Amino acid sequence: MSDTSPIDSFSQLQLAEPLSRAVADMGYESMTPIQAQAIPVVLQGRDVMGAAQTGTGKTAAFSLPLLQRMLKHENSSTSPARHPVRALVLLPTRELADQVAKSVKDYAKYTQLRCTVVFGGIDMKPQTMELKKGVEILVATPGRLLDHIEAKNCVLNQVEYVVLDEADRMLDIGFLPDLQRILSYLPKQRTTLLFSATFSSEIKRLASSYLQDPVTIEVARSNAAASTVEQHFYSVGADDKRRALHQVLRKNGIKQAFVFVNSKLGCARLARSLEREGLNTTALHGDKSQDERLKALDAFKKGEVDLLVCTDVAARGLDIKDVPAVFNFDVPFNAEDYVHRIGRTGRAGASGLAVSFVAASDARLVADIEKLIKTKIEIEAIEYDEDRPRGRINDGRRAWGGDDPRDVLDAPPAERAPRRERAPSRAAAPDPFFDQPYQPPVTDVAPVWEAAAKATGNARAISANIKPRRKVAALFKSE
Ligand code: AMP
Repeated sequence: MSDTSPIDSFSQLQLAEPLSRAVADMGYESMTPIQAQAIPVVLQGRDVMGAAQTGTGKTAAFSLPLLQRMLKHENSSTSPARHPVRALVLLPTRELADQVAKSVKDYAKYTQLRCTVVFGGIDMKPQTMELKKGVEILVATPGRLLDHIEAKNCVLNQVEYVVLDEADRMLDIGFLPDLQRILSYLPKQRTTLLFSATFSSEIKRLASSYLQDPVTIEVARSNAAASTVEQHFYSVGADDKRRALHQVLRKNGIKQAFVFVNSKLGCARLARSLEREGLNTTALHGDKSQDERLKALDAFKKGEVDLLVCTDVAARGLDIKDVPAVFNFDVPFNAEDYVHRIGRTGRAGASGLAVSFVAASDARLVADIEKLIKTKIEIEAIEYDEDRPRGRINDGRRAWGGDDPRDVLDAPPAERAPRRERAPSRAAAPDPFFDQPYQPPVTDVAPVWEAAAKATGNARAISANIKPRRKVAALFKSE
């Protein structure tokens, strides 16, 4: 817990006038709990390890004190040399990076401090031009930042602040080697802020390696699932999940729902399958542009889309509440995500339905959820109305049943065989793209970096654009 007494009014912070004015423009009346606890600590220059998720106001919690302390560097010079990178904010996805950069720009709008964002998936040139002009606050995803470092578009030897935001996600995605590499370019003397939804053993090790005597701040999270949500856990084999989804939708007369999956690949694949089965479906995952995400949301809100199949990362920060039902097509790897997912239904007194499909291998994940929500979970058997055959239904769309990786619509045209010739066995013609496994769950068996450390010469898979120049040094300081 913080060693400072929380205050809750921005006026008590004595922020510089340009920052107070920006906060006033935002219409914030009082600080959120993470802001009340973190801002005074960061203003003192202490390192922070914060347990907080998107939506808690944590962007302002780190941005405002960081901007306040950087005001001494503010200048109107046009020389890039007068605007070195002083603060670095790292995030796992382009959406989050974009969102955070927008907020930082809002808070900094009355100052002369410059902020820009770099993330992958788009042309590097406009980003390069921005970087070359000079920028004090750089918001970035790790892979693209390394591309820019390698291309000498930015130097980080004057960084005073680094924020590792959504650190748990960055580790889940496998960004640890990238992070270590980036951190190795930064001055040792700096303030480091780490935010994570959970304090897993991996996160604690990351913190103990890179943070100095951090103040730990945990914002009370509502881990209790909303009581208005009816929760069901059905035992469903991996091949029967779509059939089960149809069954529950039909039986409960559900018109619209969110369907959560654990990986981007699974997300795209499931959305396509459900679409072919006659449901208006849109996929929302990290590879979708902001514009595509907004369009998908809009279509869902207008009722043009029945099912929004999404990953946790993509769903964060989405402003859609009171969805009639939420499906956990995959049980989430983190129990906290379960609470977040089902929190989208049953709000404001409305009743909601949360249905999870539990495969045999999900026992540990279900036990974690049970512990978090402090409720005994009964796994139910699902009763199907009818026993439809797997394969194509009469109108040519495929009925529920096992995913067929050889589906003609997924295959390149040259590989599309006439339907009747397709072999029945999944193993006979694996799809090299969609048969990739889900992103692996983080287990407490062996931290990811320990395995990585053993691999020689495999510093990181940075980007196709560049080659690693040096191996990642010892992944963590020896204890
Ligand atoms: P964040 O967790 O930083 O993504 O913030 C989530 C949302 O809360 C954003 O829309 C912020 O503009 C808003 N927000 C942040 N701080 C406050 C505050 N003190 N009062 C009201 N809204 C806030």
